[in-house]
This record gives sequence, structure tokens and C-alpha cells, in this order.
Amino acid sequence: MSDGRTIELQEYKSEIKPTWCPGCGDFAVLNGLQRALQTLQIKPWTVTIVSGIGCSSNIPHFLSSYGFHSIHGRSIPVASGIKLANPELTVIAAGGDGDGYGIGAGHFLHAMRRNLDITYIVMNNQIYGLTTGQASPTSEREMKTKSTPEGVIENPINPISLALAAGATYVARGFSGDAKTLGDLFAKGIRHKGFALVDVLSPCVTYNKQNTYDWFRQRVYSLEKEGHDPSDFHAAMRRATEWPNLDQTRDRIGIGVFYERTDIPTYEELEPVLRKGPLVKQPLGLANPEELLEEFR
Ligand code: SF4
Repeated sequence: MSDGRTIELQEYKSEIKPTWCPGCGDFAVLNGLQRALQTLQIKPWTVTIVSGIGCSSNIPHFLSSYGFHSIHGRSIPVASGIKLANPELTVIAAGGDGDGYGIGAGHFLHAMRRNLDITYIVMNNQIYGLTTGQASPTSEREMKTKSTPEGVIENPINPISLALAAGATYVARGFSGDAKTLGDLFAKGIRHKGFALVDVLSPCVTYNKQNTYDWFRQRVYSLEKEGHDPSDFHAAMRRATEWPNLDQTRDRIGIGVFYERTDIPTYEELEPVLRKGPLVKQPLGLANPEELLEEFR
């Protein structure tokens, strides 16, 4: 609530209109995120969204909140710094599969084992879209792209099993063709205290002609409807390894919450320096801060 009134959905929309191709899966992600923030009634001025580089990383421009369009693969370090400076903020990191699971993979792993209270949304289209269609870390084997004219020979990363193994305390997968579930997964991830990964199957309609909306519709199923228990780590790992997997069986792709654990303290809760409150509210401890700043001028 803001001044006792309900914050309207419109207040989470910026004046800048998305520049994505018509039909891009990232539109559903933006809409789902705006709906999640509105459902939770989180004040836009207490939200910071940080992105890397890529089509999907333009998302901070389209959300009415604080935003930081950082550099390739570095959304997590920037988001971590913001969260540690002021844990009272809702911090969201966002980007694509190339950005997060390729160049930013090291940051991704360490943020999960630290259990920082950040929601990380990865718009996974299994291709580099901004650079016009090269294979990414999640491209399937044999997929022909501009950089792999004879087909991909590497195995794709499985972000869900990777997140489980690295210690993420909320692990979910959404699909841009299922907007309702997507918004719910974002809301649960933001509410979760700890690192939340939401990997979103977000088709690139321009450069990935293989993993289309129809391709996914034939394979996705609801984890919840099949009675999956998100508190069961081993069941989550079994579901996670259904797709992608090494023998390229592509039949079933679970959508929903794979895993959630709420009894692990966050990094911020354990960090001794934050016991006295957010750093932004603590005295700088410098007699003359101007002197220090002068060194960097
Ligand atoms: Fe979306 Fe692909 Fe277009 Fe980029 S190139 S905006 S990922 S559809």
C-alpha cells in the first residue's frame, strides 16, 4: 500500500515502450513481473532491477522502478552490491541465458551458495538474440545457428539442476506461453527470503525457429498438477533432469516450483556488518569523505 491506497498496475509501467520483436517471450515476463509486484503491493520506489546485456536485459527500461542496465554477465554482482548496501530494497536481477548461464555463470553459482535475498529472472530463449542468432549455453545439441552451421556439438546447461546443486533455496521454471503461472512464480520468488531463480522459457521468435511456443506447448506440464512436492530435494532433482538431458529425450518439461526451502538464513542475515542495520543508514566512519573521493577524481 502507498499512502493507504492500492498501487495500480499502471504505476509499474514506465513511459518507455518495449522494443522487443512482436511475439517475443520477454513481453510476458515484463507483464508477469509487473503483475507480481502489484499483487504484492511493493512500492515501485523500493524495487531495483539490475540486468546484464542482451535483448531481455533491456527490461529495466520498461519497468517503473529503480534500474541498472549493467554490463555483460554482471547483473548478479551489481545486484549483490545493491542488496548488501540496503537489504530493505526488493532486488531483482534479470537477463538472458547467454548473459547469466554463459559469461555470468560464475556469479550465478556463488550467489546461490551464498543465499542472497535476490530474485533472478532468466529469460531463456536458447539463443543469442541481440547479436542475431548464435548458439548459447542452453542451445540444444544439433541445433543449427549462425555460429553452428553444422549443428551444436556441446551439451546444453541444465539451469534447474545446476541451481539445485549450488544451493538455491527457491528454484522455479516458467513459460511465456503461460502468463498466469509466470506471474505467480515471480510473486512467490520475490516473497521468498533467499536466492530465487525463475528460469523462463521465453521464445525468441526471430532467431530460434526450433524451440517455439508450439514446441513448448507440446511438452510442458504442471509440476503442481502432477503432485510434485517442492520440499523434496531429490524429487526436484529427478524432475529437473527430465529436460534438458544428455540423451536428448525432449518429451516432458516441468513448469512450476521445483524446490523451496525456507529454513536457510540469507547472506544478509549472517553478515556481521549488517547487524547494526543497512549500510546506507550507518555512518560512513570517515572524518573527511571528500578527501577519499578526491583520490578517485
Ligand atoms: Fe526477442 Fe529474439 Fe527479437 Fe531479441 S531477437 S527481441 S529475443 S524475439
